[in-house]
Amino acid sequence: MSTESATNAVTLRKAMLNLLEDARELELKLQYERDRIESIFSAMAEGLVVVAADHSVIMLNPAAAHMLGTKAGDAVNKDIKDLLSVFKGDDEVEERDRPTMRTLNERVSITTTIDDDFYFKTASGRKFPVTIATSPVIENDNHNAIIIFRDVTREKELENAKSSFISTASHQLRTPLTSIRWYAEMLTDEDVGVLNKEQRDFAREVYDGATRLNDTINTLLSISRIESGKLHEEPVDIALKPFVKNITDELALLIAQKKLFTDIRIGDDARVTADTFMLHEVISNLLSNSIRYTNEDGHIAFSCDAHDGETVCSIADDGIGIPDDQKGKIFDRFFRAGNAMSKVPDGSGLGLNLVKQFVEKWGGRIWFESTEGKGSVFHFTIPATHKM
Ligand code: ADP
Repeated sequence: MSTESATNAVTLRKAMLNLLEDARELELKLQYERDRIESIFSAMAEGLVVVAADHSVIMLNPAAAHMLGTKAGDAVNKDIKDLLSVFKGDDEVEERDRPTMRTLNERVSITTTIDDDFYFKTASGRKFPVTIATSPVIENDNHNAIIIFRDVTREKELENAKSSFISTASHQLRTPLTSIRWYAEMLTDEDVGVLNKEQRDFAREVYDGATRLNDTINTLLSISRIESGKLHEEPVDIALKPFVKNITDELALLIAQKKLFTDIRIGDDARVTADTFMLHEVISNLLSNSIRYTNEDGHIAFSCDAHDGETVCSIADDGIGIPDDQKGKIFDRFFRAGNAMSKVPDGSGLGLNLVKQFVEKWGGRIWFESTEGKGSVFHFTIPATHKM
C-alpha cells in the first residue's frame, strides 16, 4: 500500500469513527428526549391518550389507564370507543360529535370546560365528569389526535355543594324577611296606629331595606339555579311592545321620582321567542340600572330592532357612565364601579352578572358603550331561531 493510500485509509477510518460517534450521540440525545417526554407523560395527573386516524389507541399514560380502568398494554391498538363512551349530561354523544372524532375528522382543536358537562364512561361502566382538550398531531404523515382529560368529580361536588348552600341559605332567609316586610308595611300603612313622621320614615326604611335584600336573594337564587343547570328555558312567542310597557309600568314610580324622560321605541309588531321570566329579568335589571345611575331630569331610551336573524335591544341613558379603568369588570359578580358606589350606596353588583348569564344562555350577546359623566348604552341580542 502506498503511503498516500495508507493515509487515505486512516482518514476514512477516522471519518467513519466520527460519523459513528455522531450517530451514537444523536441516539443518546433522542433516547434522553424520549425518556424525558415519557417521564413527563407518566408524571402527568391528567390523562393523555394518542389516537390514530383509524381510531385505534397508539399510546396512553398511566393516569389515563388508571382513570379508564385499563392497563396501557391492554388498551394500545384497541378502538378508542371500546375504551370509553362520551356523555353530555345524561345523553350519550353521537360518535361523530365526540371531541376526539371531530379532531380526527375536521382537524380542529377542542377544549371543554366544567360547564360543558362532559362525562366519560369506561368499559366497566364507571361514569365521571371530565374536561377535555384535544388537538390534531401529524406524525410520519399520519393525522392522529392527542387527548388530554381531567377527572373533575371533586370540582363538580364543590360546585354542587356551593349552589345547594346558596339555595338553602337563601330559602331560609326568605321566610323571616317576608315577615319583616309585612310588619314594616303594616306600620307604614298605620294599620296598627298612627305614627309620627319620624316613626313612619323609619318603618319605610325597614321596608325598603328588606325589599332590596329580598331582590338580592332572588338574584342570588337565579344565579345559583342557572349555574347548577337547574334553570330551564321555556321559550314562548312574546309581543315585545306590551311586554316592555309592563316593565316600565312596574318602574313608573322610580321614573317619576327622578323626573326622567323616557323614550321607548319598539315596533307594534315586534316579536321574539324567549323565556318570559328570563327576558323580564334582563330588561328590568338593565332599565333599573339606567334609572338608578341617571341624575334627575335625565333621559332613558329603549329600542329594539330586528336584523340579520336577531333582535338587538338597546338601553341608553345620560347618567354617570362607567369609568374606563373599571369597564372590564362590570359583568363580574359583586363588582360595583367607584362612581356608582358613591352615588347609589345600595347595590349588590349581581344584576349585570345575572343578565349576562341569561342572555348567553339563550344564545345572545351583551355589550355596552359608556363614557364617565356622559352616559351608557347597553345592548343585548335575542336570536330569532334559538333552541326551544
Ligand atoms: P348594582 O347596580 O346592584 O350595583 P349591577 O350588577 O346591576 O349591580 O351593576 C354592576 C355595576 O355596573 C354597577 O354597580 C355600576 O357600577 C355599573 N352600571 C351598571 N349599569 C350602569 C349604568 N346604566 N350606568 C352606569 N353604571 C352602570
